[in-house]
Amino acid sequence: MDDAGNRIPPLTDHFTDLHLHSTASDGARSPSEVVHQAARVGLTIIALTDHDTVGGYAAAVAAAGPLGVRVLAGTELSVRVPWGEMHLLGYGFDPTDEALLAFMARATVHRRDRGHAMAAALGRLGVPVTFDDIEAQATGAPIGRPHVARALIEKRVVGTLDEAFDRFLGRGRPAYVPKALPGVEEATSAIRAAHGISSAAHLKDRGSREALSALKGQGLDGVEVCHPSHGPATRKDIERFAVELGLLRTGGSDWHGQTVVGPSHGALGAERIPEEWVRAIDQAIEAR
Ligand code: AMP
Ligand code: ZN
Ligand code: FE
Ligand code: FE
Repeated sequence: MDDAGNRIPPLTDHFTDLHLHSTASDGARSPSEVVHQAARVGLTIIALTDHDTVGGYAAAVAAAGPLGVRVLAGTELSVRVPWGEMHLLGYGFDPTDEALLAFMARATVHRRDRGHAMAAALGRLGVPVTFDDIEAQATGAPIGRPHVARALIEKRVVGTLDEAFDRFLGRGRPAYVPKALPGVEEATSAIRAAHGISSAAHLKDRGSREALSALKGQGLDGVEVCHPSHGPATRKDIERFAVELGLLRTGGSDWHGQTVVGPSHGALGAERIPEEWVRAIDQAIEAR
């Protein structure tokens, strides 16, 4: 356990969380509920970064107006990197951009195929969870492993999300199915063409100077410094590399609306980023 959560944040007018999930992907709260809860904890700027979709944006914006909360368009794309899978956050893009929506639609179709493959793997293991059970959890959202985990809980195969990942869904476990992933440049250019900026999410110890420099060469605009999985040393290193390489700095709690928060997912508003970072992000978006 590091002491990152005990640092006193700088005094600012704004309290910003740029990494949140809703029921538009694998979060447990609706976009409107996320916004209301965000306002309740004092957040003034948020981005819903649902996996491979911007489907929650309109509802979030509608809920945010009367509460004085600003919602930045956001998403979290999965991309292929030399070490496997990386998550790429997109911000401030045109949420109606057809090419970006088509990119996300392809990922969503793939997630559905993968949902069938996970159901088949569970069937072979004798676990009574079908594709329909998974789809009932996703309720139209791009299917992710948390939906499968919730179906396993519903069927009382496991007691917790953690147990579902430990026994079945985690990398290398018997119902794990990898995603076929697009390349980094394909994703950064789709975000860029939609007038948005990209940021590499929760890189942890993969966030070396070399890796960030290579990603910048592939169109990356920023890097997530503040994330629950990053301890104080990781934050310090990644922030230094960002400044040296001219990358934007982003951060957020990665809240999924769960009541139990773990080492990779914080409580809503558990991370707050400096106003200076937000201004730089805004300026970069404005310039696109
Ligand atoms: P997917 O994109 O379908 O591969 O699912 C990955 C998502 O599963 C991540 O974004 C997390 O939200 C979630 N996840 C991964 N590991 C765990 C875990 N041990 N407990 C709960 N959620 C997890
Ligand atoms: Zn997620
Ligand atoms: Fe992620
Ligand atoms: Fe996330």
